Amino acid sequence: MDFDFSPSEEQFRAELRQLLHAQLPSDWSTRSLAQAPDAEERRALARTISKQLADRKWLAMAWPKEHGGLAASYLEQLIFNEELAYLDAPGNGGVGVSSVGPAIMMNGNEAQRRLYLPRIANADDVWCALYSEPGAGSDLASIQTRAVRDGDEYIVSGTKLWVAGAQEANLGYLAARTDPNAPKHRGISTFVLPMDSAGITMRPIASMAGDSYLTEVHLDRVRIPAENLVGVENRGWYQLARSLDFERSSVAAYAGGKRNIERLVNLAKEDGGLIEQHPSMRYALADRWIEMEVGFNIAYRIPWMQTQGISPNYEASVSKLYGSELTQRIAGTGMQMLGYAGLLVPGSPLAPFGGGMARSYLESVGSTIAAGTSEVQRNIIAQRGLGLPR
Ligand SMILES: Cc1cc2nc3c(=O)[nH]c(=O)nc-3n(C[C@H](O)[C@H](O)[C@H](O)COP(=O)(O)OP(=O)(O)OC[C@H]3O[C@@H](n4cnc5c(N)ncnc54)[C@H](O)[C@@H]3O)c2cc1C
Repeated sequence: MDFDFSPSEEQFRAELRQLLHAQLPSDWSTRSLAQAPDAEERRALARTISKQLADRKWLAMAWPKEHGGLAASYLEQLIFNEELAYLDAPGNGGVGVSSVGPAIMMNGNEAQRRLYLPRIANADDVWCALYSEPGAGSDLASIQTRAVRDGDEYIVSGTKLWVAGAQEANLGYLAARTDPNAPKHRGISTFVLPMDSAGITMRPIASMAGDSYLTEVHLDRVRIPAENLVGVENRGWYQLARSLDFERSSVAAYAGGKRNIERLVNLAKEDGGLIEQHPSMRYALADRWIEMEVGFNIAYRIPWMQTQGISPNYEASVSKLYGSELTQRIAGTGMQMLGYAGLLVPGSPLAPFGGGMARSYLESVGSTIAAGTSEVQRNIIAQRGLGLPR
């Protein structure tokens, strides 16, 4: 089995790395820029980096050329995701590139493809995904937000929850119920929602990591032009299920984990006392390293399958599940190793890694919930992978 990347893939990796290093501040790796005081700096950097990537057509590189991509391979897309995640670089195009663009490509009409796809690939728009609701997360088909046709418009009312990046987005991809009398999976449609529409109010949700990236979005008789319906009315659930399938390999979890393990290993080498006082940490770090290597192999298999024309199914759930739980284990090992100092959050001059380990520890809690909980992933693996009854 040949695990090497091809020379052209390695060259792409090197060029990408060079671009990112040139854009990121030199002390980036020790800063904690997702925190509130630096959020604006991170946003500005995200805009610069995504524009630079877009100039090279790398932002949506796997898309067909006519939509602003390079028709790049799945493996090149994986390298892109891996490198940005390893450096914790912002500006990867977010849900616009990872799921909304592919959904419009698959389900939108020609006018929508021509309008939205080049703008996503060119980093002109910032998107958010408005799916979950207070009573509908894992069971997305239970959403209650209503869209009622009124002439050339739909009138939409309801509440969306846990919307990542809603405050920065100018466009949203919205799931709403268009037929309340149909079985729940068959009465949902998807829309493009301009986020400056009248009737939208937002309530930022303070996270345990100290930021307000997640938002509750209220829609009060918001009018959406009927032409913003994406795909076939009442087929939205099936369309969404397919578009969520695009974010597949979860390589970012392993790349971010690798960065954190390397930080801990380097610290242990610099401060011999750490391992002397806590010898069990040698074993813990070795275990996390092995798990991280295993994880990379799980993740690499996904684009390899896609290259062979095989659609990953439960395999993507294996990677999502293992990667998100490993993220938590690595952060946990880090906190154990750093002891009380690990509790210092960003802003404290004495915080190891600028408070980055505390931030990872707190942020990693959400990783086993976002984009499908661990229980949901285990259900998929049990049923589709092992063939167990429901
Ligand atoms: C960091 C983060 C970012 C997010 N970003 C977005 C976003 O941008 N847009 C968006 O729309 N949503 C977003 N979400 C919401 C996310 O998709 C939901 O939180 C997730 O799908 C779980 O839904 P829920 O919170 O309603 O929990 P529930 O579905 O109510 O689950 C509660 C518990 O029950 C378990 N459970 C549910 N069903 C089953 C089952 N069938 N079998 C076994 N156990 C089950 C779950 O695993 C969980 O432990 C985000 C969430 C997080 C944490």
